Amino acid sequence: MSDVGEEVVEGVNKGLRNLWRQEADLHQPKTGSYYPSMIGACLRKQYYAYSIGEVPDDGALAIFATGRGVHDAVADALDNSGVLKVEAREVEVSLPFGEAVLHGRIDLVVASLRGEKIAIEVKSTSRIPEEPFEHQVLQLQTYLHATGLGKGVLLYWDKRHGAKKGFVIEKERLSLEKLEHRVGALHKSLVSKEPPPREAFLENRLWECRYCSFLSTCKPFQIEGLETGPIAVYDLDNTLLDSRDRLRRSLRDIGLSEDTDLKRLSAEDRKRFWGIYLSEKHLGLDKPIGQYVEKLCSHSRNNVVIVTGRPERLRAATEQQLGRLNIPFRAMVMRRDDEYLSDRQVKLNWVENLLLTGYTVEECVSSYRDFMDAAKILSEKYRTGSTGSS
Ligand code: SF4
Repeated sequence: MSDVGEEVVEGVNKGLRNLWRQEADLHQPKTGSYYPSMIGACLRKQYYAYSIGEVPDDGALAIFATGRGVHDAVADALDNSGVLKVEAREVEVSLPFGEAVLHGRIDLVVASLRGEKIAIEVKSTSRIPEEPFEHQVLQLQTYLHATGLGKGVLLYWDKRHGAKKGFVIEKERLSLEKLEHRVGALHKSLVSKEPPPREAFLENRLWECRYCSFLSTCKPFQIEGLETGPIAVYDLDNTLLDSRDRLRRSLRDIGLSEDTDLKRLSAEDRKRFWGIYLSEKHLGLDKPIGQYVEKLCSHSRNNVVIVTGRPERLRAATEQQLGRLNIPFRAMVMRRDDEYLSDRQVKLNWVENLLLTGYTVEECVSSYRDFMDAAKILSEKYRTGSTGSS
């Protein structure tokens, strides 16, 4: 019977949970002693991990186990490389800051290369970044300051394609000050029982929020004054507002004809075009589209959320524009200023953020059929995957 397959999967999940419990029993979180591997992550998340306790789900445990497996593979490979000599695979570190300390037994390879000892921190990833992630650099800096080593390598291992890339990180004083500040802030919050600000959310590290085990406690995507419940999602450009004149004028401004196909713009023209189109310069050319505005105005629940690919820097101008046009809404969610995803993806990510928070999307209105269809599939997934209630 196919149940045998399910039993094997359940066996793996159970085993991972048991291993995690054994580890957790040995290392109970204690106020005053913080984890070097966590200190670069959102401070509020760490606060919850200490004050509420963290029970990772099966997916997180599997990802953690994969990371460990890659770490061991790297250590084995280096051991047999004849290039570096592995001196330690796990290291106990302690870095005191006043009444608090960063302390833990960590997966870290210490190897010697041409007589020099270096620390190697391994990260398994699905995409190798252009630059190392800041919170991971901070983690390695903790190890360098705690072990006294002067140099480390942050080694990324692409688990999908097998590519690898190492970033050299030199020990630096500035990071030590940053660590001291973070440890102090976390300790103060725990002692005073006051959660720190929603760091990952405020710094636009929304991916960190989406995978955070405390998302439902922290609720960073919650709309002020609107507890979970049904919302109506409305698209903005070319749904509530006809933005075609703005588009045409922006093309003219860069010396192109009004009917230029945007897909054919050179990289330089594209940059100039979007710089003008997504600015206040021609916002006044937008006109309301009657059928959608009337539909929006017919909502009596004051639960309309406008989802737009416009960047945050246009928030004030957009709010004024909607005010002038008498288009009411409860909240508006926008593209981050440093976000370069497609319009569709930005809007879908926001729909998912709202669903993750517990809202149900009772209606999604857009002139873009593919966006509406994708939003509907997402809504259905969350509706059936959570409580099962409608
Ligand atoms: S949801 Fe985001 S801001 Fe809140 S604790 Fe988690 S990572 Fe931090």
